[in-house]
Amino acid sequence: MQIAWSDDERAFRTEVRTFLDDALTPELRAAGRNMTSVYAHPTISLTWQRILHAKGWAAPAWPVEYGGCGWSAARRSIFAAELSAAGAPPLSPMGLGMCGPVLIGHGTPQQKTRFLPRMLSGEDLWCQGYSEPGSGSDLAALQMSARADGDDFICNGHKIWTTHANAADWIFCLVRTSQEKIRQLGITFILIDMTTPGVEVRPIISLSGEHIQNEVFFTDVRVPKTNVVGAVGDGWTVAKYLMQFERGGGSSAPGFRTRLAKIRAMTTDLDGFAGRLADAAIAVDALEAVEMRVMAGLASGQAPGPESSMLKTVGTELSQRLTELSLEAAGVYGAPFQPHAVHAGGPTYGFVPPNDGQAVGPSDAWTAAPKYFHDRAGSIYAGTNEIQRNIMAKAILGL
Ligand SMILES: Cc1cc2nc3c(=O)[nH]c(=O)nc-3n(C[C@H](O)[C@H](O)[C@H](O)COP(=O)(O)OP(=O)(O)OC[C@H]3O[C@@H](n4cnc5c(N)ncnc54)[C@H](O)[C@@H]3O)c2cc1C
Repeated sequence: MQIAWSDDERAFRTEVRTFLDDALTPELRAAGRNMTSVYAHPTISLTWQRILHAKGWAAPAWPVEYGGCGWSAARRSIFAAELSAAGAPPLSPMGLGMCGPVLIGHGTPQQKTRFLPRMLSGEDLWCQGYSEPGSGSDLAALQMSARADGDDFICNGHKIWTTHANAADWIFCLVRTSQEKIRQLGITFILIDMTTPGVEVRPIISLSGEHIQNEVFFTDVRVPKTNVVGAVGDGWTVAKYLMQFERGGGSSAPGFRTRLAKIRAMTTDLDGFAGRLADAAIAVDALEAVEMRVMAGLASGQAPGPESSMLKTVGTELSQRLTELSLEAAGVYGAPFQPHAVHAGGPTYGFVPPNDGQAVGPSDAWTAAPKYFHDRAGSIYAGTNEIQRNIMAKAILGL
């Protein structure tokens, strides 16, 4: 890998910077800077997505024929770094980052034509219906059923932890279409319109008071068979393909660098703190090297592969380390609960701002505590890190 950027890449970086200077409104910048979790509020992420879409930059990882950018690994890394440095809010990952690649890899031509353009433009927001009570790590234990009835399936079941189901237009679900001796068989990947009669969303309120996750109940929900992606009963293949994109193929390192700079701006005076920041900075550099390698593979048409488990584990644990450093640096200013000062990933209920709505403490400290609490989930969602270690042991180390 060439370490220095070429003239062409430097010119691209200038083009991105110029665009961001102009396109990122102060409201979008504030939302990116003051995020409390990995999720921007859907209203914010969709506003930003529409702006990027107008420029043709909403889906850098998608092939050009579907409206993607077809960029090299280097360009995608530059783009991610510039977005992060400019404080852009992230886009919702469930459509562009998960279901989109699945439709591109496994969808029918009709499904691609129907779903990809609206996913790309931000007209449709997507959510992910994999987990159920009793079926998280052991995903193959899932029970939501889909019974064939003419041209449709009738779906019944209960999904849980569904991020942004309260705002989504569509959900992609794993459902059981038959009972087989091998549990991974008989599972089907299906797309469900959230406005279909029988779909009910109930909120799960997080420790920070935010509403981001949900339970989704399905009672006799009629879904056309044409919404099945891949073969009926072979959804496990599709699910595994999607999970590689969910866990890897992104670019966390530039954002981590921005967070390190915010921590440094708060303090380096604590005992041994500068050394711990330097340790974290080295870990960010190492992560970036692996992300670039995976991105180079993606740019040449490969799926991320089991290396995505490594990226997910290292990335989320490093992120948790940064939240700990940030809370320490924030000191007493990490303590006040002031959601009115930050940009939550969803609405915060039952909170009346004190001090006439004025926040206390330096702005870099406002998000320290909510981010710390939210980030505990990083080693749980997208498959727990214990499960990722099992995958690495088997698929990478051959144990
Ligand atoms: C913030 C957040 C957002 C989420 N968003 C979504 C979403 O949008 N859509 C969706 O479908 N799901 C979502 N999830 C669900 C997530 O994927 C599950 O929580 C996760 O897969 C773990 O499943 P579980 O909660 O049932 O825990 P369990 O599977 O019950 O695990 C409990 C503990 O046991 C450990 N464990 C289990 N099995 C093994 C094993 N074989 N070896 C070693 N250790 C093991 C786990 O690591 C964990 O520590 C979200 C979760 C969170 C917290």
